[in-house]
Amino acid sequence: MDAMSMLKSFRVVDLRELFIGKEKKGLKGDLIRRAIQLIQNECSQELLTKINDIYNSRCQPQAVTNPRASPQILSMKIADSTPSPSSQDSDVKLMSFPFHQTLDILVDLTALKPHFSFTLSEKQRKQLITQTTRFSGDEVQVVIRICYTESVGVEDDQYPPELFVFVNRQMLPLQIRVRKPGEEPRRPCPPINITSQLKLSQPGDIQSGFITWRDRGKVKCYSFAVHLVRILSAKELLAQLRKSSVESVECCRARVCEKLCTGQDSDVATTGLRVSLLCPLGKTRLRVPCRGSGCAHLQCFDALTYVELNNMKPTWMCPVCDRPAPFTLLTIDGLLSSILVTAEESVVEIEFVADGSWRSVKDQHGNARRSPQTELSVTSLHSLAASEIIDLTLD
Ligand SMILES: [Zn+2]
Ligand SMILES: [Zn+2]
Repeated sequence: MDAMSMLKSFRVVDLRELFIGKEKKGLKGDLIRRAIQLIQNECSQELLTKINDIYNSRCQPQAVTNPRASPQILSMKIADSTPSPSSQDSDVKLMSFPFHQTLDILVDLTALKPHFSFTLSEKQRKQLITQTTRFSGDEVQVVIRICYTESVGVEDDQYPPELFVFVNRQMLPLQIRVRKPGEEPRRPCPPINITSQLKLSQPGDIQSGFITWRDRGKVKCYSFAVHLVRILSAKELLAQLRKSSVESVECCRARVCEKLCTGQDSDVATTGLRVSLLCPLGKTRLRVPCRGSGCAHLQCFDALTYVELNNMKPTWMCPVCDRPAPFTLLTIDGLLSSILVTAEESVVEIEFVADGSWRSVKDQHGNARRSPQTELSVTSLHSLAASEIIDLTLD
């Protein structure tokens, strides 16, 4: 029996009990609608418990009321009542969450079910007690991850509709973004940090969890896992990116040439390709120029600024073209990196011209730069490429 079905069996007098301190007038249908809104907006355990208590006392006077067991009765889906897909049936894997390094798996990825429990080892418990401050740069957390079960492959985190999570009988605040009440929350759905509700005072305590969600006729199945993770800083992520995801100068040059050559009939041929050396996010000079692998533009944004912003509010959308640019698909532009080293600090915009070279076009005061010195410092990409070809034939 779920909370919604309980509400629908309530009499008007029962419904009014839910609106203590609030407007109690209205027809039955209106009261039910407002009660559902109350559940969805306030998500309080007290409210769910109250609905359960009223249901038990008024509608089923013979039922034994056990307040400690009330969340069980209120579960919106019981795994045992219908066959659930087990993790063996599916090859679903969780997308790695960029800011987390998984240290241990406490509950392996399995079908989402209302009840779960795990025990921390002595080492894990000590880690959680001592490594709890974000600013020490070594924070450890226990997190719940939830994703779809259906598809084979790597899955992004996705919360089910009307999700409530309780750990050791305390409800956890969730960062949920919903378009309409009752809908599936919008992505990204960050891992749920349950560290604050864990029992850490003595070894071997059983950590028990309870999850409720709305099962929309089993249209979608979900899996979940519980991980012990270390929080990575934006700087650590940037180091990863520098190590594994830099596009070579040659590849970047080829990309510029392709744009210049295919754009010959359009404005590109006469005006060249302009690229700002300022990050569109912070309006300061690019430090680590990058873009998403799905981006078609030459303009870069600053990797460190982007990662820091997504640490605070994860959207992972390219600030230039507004397409998804998740951390795993970021690429550092090797050519622009080298231009940033060469170009004077005052230069804020450069342009790739028809012969494939680049020159600075604007400084920080907005002045166009047309001094003879600038013209002399032009680097011809084509001549560089040509010398490489000669080297290869001599080999
Ligand atoms: Zn070309
Ligand atoms: Zn883009």
